[in-house]
Amino acid sequence: MSAPEEPSSPDRRRFLALAGSLGVAAGGSLLLPGQARADSPPLEWQNWSGGQKARPANMAYPDSEEALATAIRSATAPIRAVGGSHSFSPVVSTPGTIISLEALNGMVAHDPKAQTATFRAGTRVAATGPALKAVGQGLLNEADINLQSLGGAISTSTHGTGRLLKSYSGNVTHLRLFTADGSAIDCSADTNRDIFDAARVAVGSLGILSQVTLQNRTAYRLRETVRVSDVQAAMAAMEAERDRHRHIEIFVFPFGGKAIVKRMNITTDAPTPVVPADDNELLDFAADTARKYPWTNAWVQRLVGMFISDSERVGDSFDVLASPRTVAFNEMEYTVPAERGLECLEEVNSTIRRAGINVFFPLEFRYTAADDCWLSPFSERPGASISVHQYHKQDYRPLFRLVEPIFWKYQGRPHWGKLHTLTAKNLRAVYPRFDDFLRVRRELDPQGRFLNPHARQLFLG
Ligand SMILES: Cc1cc2nc3c(=O)[nH]c(=O)nc-3n(C[C@H](O)[C@H](O)[C@H](O)COP(=O)(O)OP(=O)(O)OC[C@H]3O[C@@H](n4cnc5c(N)ncnc54)[C@H](O)[C@@H]3O)c2cc1C
Repeated sequence: MSAPEEPSSPDRRRFLALAGSLGVAAGGSLLLPGQARADSPPLEWQNWSGGQKARPANMAYPDSEEALATAIRSATAPIRAVGGSHSFSPVVSTPGTIISLEALNGMVAHDPKAQTATFRAGTRVAATGPALKAVGQGLLNEADINLQSLGGAISTSTHGTGRLLKSYSGNVTHLRLFTADGSAIDCSADTNRDIFDAARVAVGSLGILSQVTLQNRTAYRLRETVRVSDVQAAMAAMEAERDRHRHIEIFVFPFGGKAIVKRMNITTDAPTPVVPADDNELLDFAADTARKYPWTNAWVQRLVGMFISDSERVGDSFDVLASPRTVAFNEMEYTVPAERGLECLEEVNSTIRRAGINVFFPLEFRYTAADDCWLSPFSERPGASISVHQYHKQDYRPLFRLVEPIFWKYQGRPHWGKLHTLTAKNLRAVYPRFDDFLRVRRELDPQGRFLNPHARQLFLG
């Protein structure tokens, strides 16, 4: 059989942005104030990828802390908070009440000396960039996208890449948590320390965060360089250069033998012209072609090297760190001890190749520094995170079933917002402070009002 027709007029820069960014962020079903009416058809919620759906009995959209307390007190359990709906796992789905933090957003205060800033928990990460720049600050790091809410990003230990940089949770200095009876608890390293350690990554299961204070730094610019190479060269670069760059990550295409290496470092150079936002037609075309004609997958993946030209840009940190992602996919991610990361990546890659699983999206590999949050995948251990993605029109189960046991072999800890099959029994083995978390959870919510079926598997199962 011959290969399908190539995409017309391949635009190298456009393909780079698309493939490198793995799809674009459009947001799940946004829950807007006023959407829920008594005479409405059944309430429906779904996440960004469309892989999770729920029909809650009620939804609430508090726009103040008083309204949040009232909403919690009067809610039908199980109660779940929702931020940006950008998690792949069933962390939000509930037959009870979904409480959206969308209307609780914006900066509350900032401290120029300590370089910290307090935001309402529903603030989307994208909104923090300009707000912080206006007061001379910048987030220390960001994830691939910036449509998460701060409350959601913190609750799942969302992270970017950088061997010396922590996840969002690791940069929290203060939290305000509304608990099952509607009362608020302020916590920090000096106040309610156990609750602080538990609540910085609680997967929505201790209560609802109304505001968070983040440790930031002076506003800064980043230079990003993107290079295409062979897989082995990319892995060698990751090993040799991980201490040389503030941020370095690789995307490995299992079948094309190609990889993308992305490096970012602080610079005072002038910003480069803003490149207009890319659409995702080409990535969608490639993923869909590989889905419909699996025998073309290696051919399409090899084209990555033909389409992509090396690129470089300079901009404000918040413009460079996050990329748009609009082609939907489902994702599994585990974090293994940093020193075994590349070995694990190699095994995942070769296992997918041997099994001949039809997947177009690349594996993503990143480093994150250790923190002291009890349920962070980086808890007391610097981590290497490996993400496996499957196009949303394809069944992700064969791929994820194949690779998940490999992650377990390396003592992997799952990303709470991404798909995995672990329950309390397995989680206890990889999180040394798991039972401390369960104790705090029982004390704060003895009746399990915040436990949806998924959280029950995680924390009771
Ligand atoms: C395209 C895409 C790219 C991604 N890239 C990355 C990445 O680079 N790095 C990474 O680590 N992750 C990444 N993720 C995963 C994502 O960052 C996390 O799943 C994150 O939790 C999503 O934030 P959210 O606001 O959408 O939270 P939601 O999905 O709405 O909620 C997540 C959890 O947080 C809880 N929650 C939300 N708000 C609150 C609150 N105020 N108080 C208490 N609990 C709350 C919810 O109950 C739920 O348990 C990506 C996801 C997508 C779809």
